[in-house]
Amino acid sequence: MSPRVNVVTRFAPSPTGPLHLGHAYSAMLAHDMAKAQGGTFLLRIEDIDRSRARPEWEAQIYDDLRWLGLSWPEPALRQSDRLPTYRAALERLWQHDLLFACSCNRRDILDALGAPQEGTAPPMGPDGPIYPGTCRETGRRHPGDPLPEEALRLRIDMAERAATAETPLSFTETGAGPDGETDTIRVAPDLAATVGDIVLARRDMGTSYHLAVVLDDAAQGVTHVTRGRDLFEATQIHVLLQRLLGLPTPVYHHHRLIRDDTGKRLAKRDDARALAKYRAEGATPDDIRRLVGLPTSWHPPASSL
Ligand code: GLU
Repeated sequence: MSPRVNVVTRFAPSPTGPLHLGHAYSAMLAHDMAKAQGGTFLLRIEDIDRSRARPEWEAQIYDDLRWLGLSWPEPALRQSDRLPTYRAALERLWQHDLLFACSCNRRDILDALGAPQEGTAPPMGPDGPIYPGTCRETGRRHPGDPLPEEALRLRIDMAERAATAETPLSFTETGAGPDGETDTIRVAPDLAATVGDIVLARRDMGTSYHLAVVLDDAAQGVTHVTRGRDLFEATQIHVLLQRLLGLPTPVYHHHRLIRDDTGKRLAKRDDARALAKYRAEGATPDDIRRLVGLPTSWHPPASSL
């Protein structure tokens, strides 16, 4: 008999606004997938953006999720408590000369890319315009240099070379990407052209979404990352970072996005779809499940993993 994997899923909202139907779907799906396998559902509060995170939104997240009938081991992990861990990982990458300090703002980047001019769109990666390399040499480490307190970018060509010396990058997808990508996803080589030197530490945060998410998924023992399809393209960055930092790559399950009546993806500012609003209007958790197309029992077919 093959050993049973202890399935660990998570929901990782940022407390920057009210949870809406799309969040409810994501959280309940992750919860149901764990419970269907006798596993564990975790909650993580992604509050590294101190300028936008608010304690009242965090409190509302706990309240909404409990109302939906979800539970998780308490207390939830909060990214703002993990800054020393993120810094230690940055130190390691800095020592290996895989980072450089960058002082470019958005305008500098667009100017260097020669955009926007009439009719030209800058080359785009999962994180926006592909970095033109302005600070690549000037921002590099010299022996003895401490980790700079500036924005830090990954030297992605070197990082890719180091990470793929033995095995190409790939991951298992049990959901689907935007073009139906599923099963074994091989990360296309030449991330310098398709992704570019991504920011791993923002100046005001000391970390970034990409760095924090891979360190936290590993620290929390997450085996199955369930999240919206909009993050499918970011997964290649996460797999690269996992390889560089010696972390396991979980299984990924990118799910469909909940859209409004006009087909637009719900956003934090769509207060009309806020769970709190449905609650105030007397909806039940099963009403929410029906609205997003989830079974009203907690046990969908086990084949969904
Ligand atoms: N914190 C991210 C969000 O709210 C989710 C990140 C993830 O699931 O990897 O969109």
